Amino acid sequence: MKIVTIIGARPQFIKAAAFSRAVKGRHEEILVHTGQHFDANMSDVFFEELNIPKPEYNLGISGGTHGKMTGTMIGEIEEVLLKEKPDWVLVYGDTNSTMAGALAAVKLGIAVAHVEAGVRLGTLSNPEEVNRVVTDHISRLLFVPTVLEKENLEKENLGKETFVVGNIMYDSYLYCVNRAWDKKHAEILDFTNQPIKIPDRYYYLTCHRQENTYDDEPLKEIFMAMNQLDAQTIYPVHPRNQERACRLCSENQFKKIILTQPVGYMESIHLLNGCEKVVTDSGGLQCEAFYAGKQCVTVFGRVVWPQIMVGKRNQLCGPKASEILEKLSCTQEIDASYHPFGDGHTAEKIIEIMEEQS
Ligand code: UDP
Repeated sequence: MKIVTIIGARPQFIKAAAFSRAVKGRHEEILVHTGQHFDANMSDVFFEELNIPKPEYNLGISGGTHGKMTGTMIGEIEEVLLKEKPDWVLVYGDTNSTMAGALAAVKLGIAVAHVEAGVRLGTLSNPEEVNRVVTDHISRLLFVPTVLEKENLEKENLGKETFVVGNIMYDSYLYCVNRAWDKKHAEILDFTNQPIKIPDRYYYLTCHRQENTYDDEPLKEIFMAMNQLDAQTIYPVHPRNQERACRLCSENQFKKIILTQPVGYMESIHLLNGCEKVVTDSGGLQCEAFYAGKQCVTVFGRVVWPQIMVGKRNQLCGPKASEILEKLSCTQEIDASYHPFGDGHTAEKIIEIMEEQS
């Protein structure tokens, strides 16, 4: 098989790493990086740490409105596909790069395989939901993490194309936790490029979604909560939030919050494994908190992964300091035998199904 894989954003590099490792030597894979995330610490670091091959194409498309970005991507991906003539186009998750890759392929009659299909929040007001719905409906193969996503797709008459394979993020998580990480040598830098000292006890915060970054208020509330906790908080700041996070911390003297540049995947997973609890609005990190057996408070209005909303292991909350503190103070019940996301061999399963369906 000749497969063109479209990637462009941080979580897609992490997912693609697992697939690229498994497909190497078995089939030809050509990586196309749209350029949606381009800073060294939002892109290059993942290629280095996770041994992802250098993309054959880097389209350098980022910024602008959703429509402009997506439209430009479709045109440029189409040119690559006309030249490469692959058997499959593989896309991951729910970004503009995902939808653009799928649209460019389907218009050329090339089969699309969508990994992490079937996730539904139930509202098109979430920009990623639009990408999910469109991509699922034009894909030939839909690889879903669990039976719940299969049920979502069956409701949209997409059951026949759907395969339950586990969560490919879990493949990457296991790859990472099984490798040693030396805190002393980890490059976690603040915004003056100085390495931070990781406290013995800390909370791990990430926040970047449009719903929490449109204005100062949500982040300020999150910081107010974190600043009242019994330990410091480490927050690797997404570029979207850098100006606001630095300004809010200095204006309000939030002394317990350690702002850092975005970290690599190894660093993120090891920060997660060493932390007390997680506060996030990231779809990926809330799942990883579950894998790591860490209590998570997700500052977001909708459930992304119903599987992890058990035993208070993940609790939703609004961007309100009092609510965040209340949810963080709850006791969590962990049932270690409950693990719905597969066995860490999702990438291999995807390849086998693609081989059968070719
Ligand atoms: N992550 C990372 N560095 C960071 C923050 C997060 O590597 O500075 C990882 C995190 O462990 C998870 C993924 O990035 O695997 C989540 O990506 P993101 O939050 O950008 O996207 P989402 O999951 O919301 O789609």
